[in-house]
Amino acid sequence: MALSNIRIVLVHPTHPGNVGATARAMKNMSLRRLYLVTPEKFPSPEATDRAAGADDVLEKAVICPSLEEAIKDCHLVIGTTARSRRIEWPTLDPPAGARRLVEGAGQGPVALLFGQERTGLLNEELDRCHCMVTIPADSEYSSLNLAGAVQILAYEIYRANLTGSASTETAEPLGCAVSQEDMLRFYQHLEEVLQQIGFLDPANPRFLMRRLMRLFNRAGLDDNEMNILRGILTTIQKRQGKS
Ligand code: SAH
Repeated sequence: MALSNIRIVLVHPTHPGNVGATARAMKNMSLRRLYLVTPEKFPSPEATDRAAGADDVLEKAVICPSLEEAIKDCHLVIGTTARSRRIEWPTLDPPAGARRLVEGAGQGPVALLFGQERTGLLNEELDRCHCMVTIPADSEYSSLNLAGAVQILAYEIYRANLTGSASTETAEPLGCAVSQEDMLRFYQHLEEVLQQIGFLDPANPRFLMRRLMRLFNRAGLDDNEMNILRGILTTIQKRQGKS
């Protein structure tokens, strides 16, 4: 859902091969919304050829007469640039830029802009952006091929989206897999064993136990993991009894 609100905007692309390769890079990473601002040659057999199996993305590409038209309904616009030309622009690295886009896409359409092959994004185009993303590269040769830059950022967006959905999906089960009652029993058992083996000083038990509780609470244990830990404690107690 979030990815369908993310559009890739190529501003005045001149090489049809780059447009086709962009469509392919996007489809590999589940992005489908391609916007082309005054492309030099489009449609073109070369673009279709380079798109390989992603010609559906090309067919649905929205051709716009101006950048304003391409981004008019977007509430977040991020530009891409090989070098920072204006110091006042906040510049993010690719993972941070991708996270912002994915978060923003939850509220409505967002855009990631790519510049023309030779000139990049012009200053007046950069003026439309909330922030910039730069792909770190060799300081002497930092300008990537247009479709190569799209591929790297599409991949980061794909990853950011996966991480985002994984954290919301796992938050609930992690929090409630083991009841607080069971956790408390485990902490009592742990304290007992730590005293038996002489690791915990009963004169000052609180500090160590609090740290251990924080550690295990952070881990978000499930029932299986709890059973393993309880099994280890019981085995230690049995061994202690024998020695
Ligand atoms: N000479 C131009 C290069 C344009 S390359 C310039 O200096 O801007 C075409 C487009 O690819 C750029 O406008 C940008 O959208 C993207 N791109 C190329 N290298 C990049 C990099 N290192 N980081 C972010 N985007 C890059």
